[in-house]
Amino acid sequence: MTLGNMVNKAQRILRLFTIDDWCLGRQFAMQGYGLTNKDRGIALKTLLLMAGTEAYQRNPQRGITLLRRLAENGQFHPAREFLEKEGITELQSSRKCDICNGVMDQLPQAAKAMIQALKGWEATSLLIGTKVDPTIMEKEEQLRSELQIDTGEPIKAELNREIGKLVTAKLNLDVDFDAPDIVGVIQIPGFIVELEVHSLFIFGRYRKLVRGIPQTRWPCRECRGKGCPRCNQTGKMYTESVEELIAPTILEYTGGKDVKFHGAGREDIDARMLGTGRPFVIEVLSPHTRTIPLIQVANRINNSTDGKVEVSDLRFANKEVVQRIKSTATSSKKVYKAIVHVDEPIAQNSLKTLHELPLPLEVHQRTPQRVSHRRSDRIRKKRVDALEAVFIDPNTFELTIQCQGGLYVKEFISGDEGRTVPSITKILGTPAACTQLDVIDVVIAEEKLPW
Ligand SMILES: [Zn+2]
Ligand SMILES: [Zn+2]
Repeated sequence: MTLGNMVNKAQRILRLFTIDDWCLGRQFAMQGYGLTNKDRGIALKTLLLMAGTEAYQRNPQRGITLLRRLAENGQFHPAREFLEKEGITELQSSRKCDICNGVMDQLPQAAKAMIQALKGWEATSLLIGTKVDPTIMEKEEQLRSELQIDTGEPIKAELNREIGKLVTAKLNLDVDFDAPDIVGVIQIPGFIVELEVHSLFIFGRYRKLVRGIPQTRWPCRECRGKGCPRCNQTGKMYTESVEELIAPTILEYTGGKDVKFHGAGREDIDARMLGTGRPFVIEVLSPHTRTIPLIQVANRINNSTDGKVEVSDLRFANKEVVQRIKSTATSSKKVYKAIVHVDEPIAQNSLKTLHELPLPLEVHQRTPQRVSHRRSDRIRKKRVDALEAVFIDPNTFELTIQCQGGLYVKEFISGDEGRTVPSITKILGTPAACTQLDVIDVVIAEEKLPW
């Protein structure tokens, strides 16, 4: 758009609308660089003032018309002062902008309302959004179609940006469009604020040192969590879980509303989780505090679980890490230690068969009977990378199994009535059963984690 075109359009806008600097400048938001729309509006009004005073010299009547429009519709003070100096004083004053109805003059009040709402919520990054009264946007649409303006930006974009600038400068925060800690949405006008507080994610590893506790809260099957005689009114199948042993301390430090526990797979309830522990991410919903002393938090957790669960390696994470550790369920390597009972006594050297198997061993597992109610019935192929058996007595040995994540170890031992092939039962030629299971290690490929 040429300068002449721009000035002409501004002139025509002022003939039809009362308009403030922001709303005039916004119609030309694509012109220029490094300016606020207010800067653009003032620049255009300044040009119109110069054109007006020049016209006044040649044709006072014409000049007065232009300058009056600038003073009244444009709320432009220099035009008013010029006319008053020339003795023209019966000018209308304090009209509200036809487009925004005065909202653009209230940006500091809007920012103040937002800052007030953010009190008590720690954030390092923020995104400001607005819910703008539709009549404001309709007004702007009307102006743009009447004057064929295609160089503007939506008022909503400007409000988000300008309120965001004021708030982030005052609170010393970063703007983050992708993953802000908090999204603040403010109603325009009215300035009622709603906050969307995003979760805090903490990565760690847990060791489960006792048998008989599940990884996560397990709602009672009978009452689905409401409380019934079966669950002794607790609403739960088990009184505690790894999640519930960790959560209270995390909630105490963060002031969050609740947690979600994301594990890199899970062990059976009756299996311990030893070694360096299983990676997990605990997601804290609506946290008030985000910068918490993780080493201290880990110590507090470890001192509060009666030796049942230990956490280590706590780090701040993000949503992606949850996806990553979830997706490692089958790509990770697992090491198990099982106590195996065999029905018929075996000689010590018959365990050699297990050491002489060609490795890696491909195991075909049809969905085990014990999980068939929650897993689709199909055959999964899993790899066993290493086996080591240590004789304990003729009916018992200890078996260390290194395998691909997702192998059903108990079924690999028992054969699950022929559903898992091959199996320890098949290889030894006598029914074998896992009587105790520990997870010794969960190894996640390094590239799966951001550190
Ligand atoms: Zn306005
Ligand atoms: Zn129940």
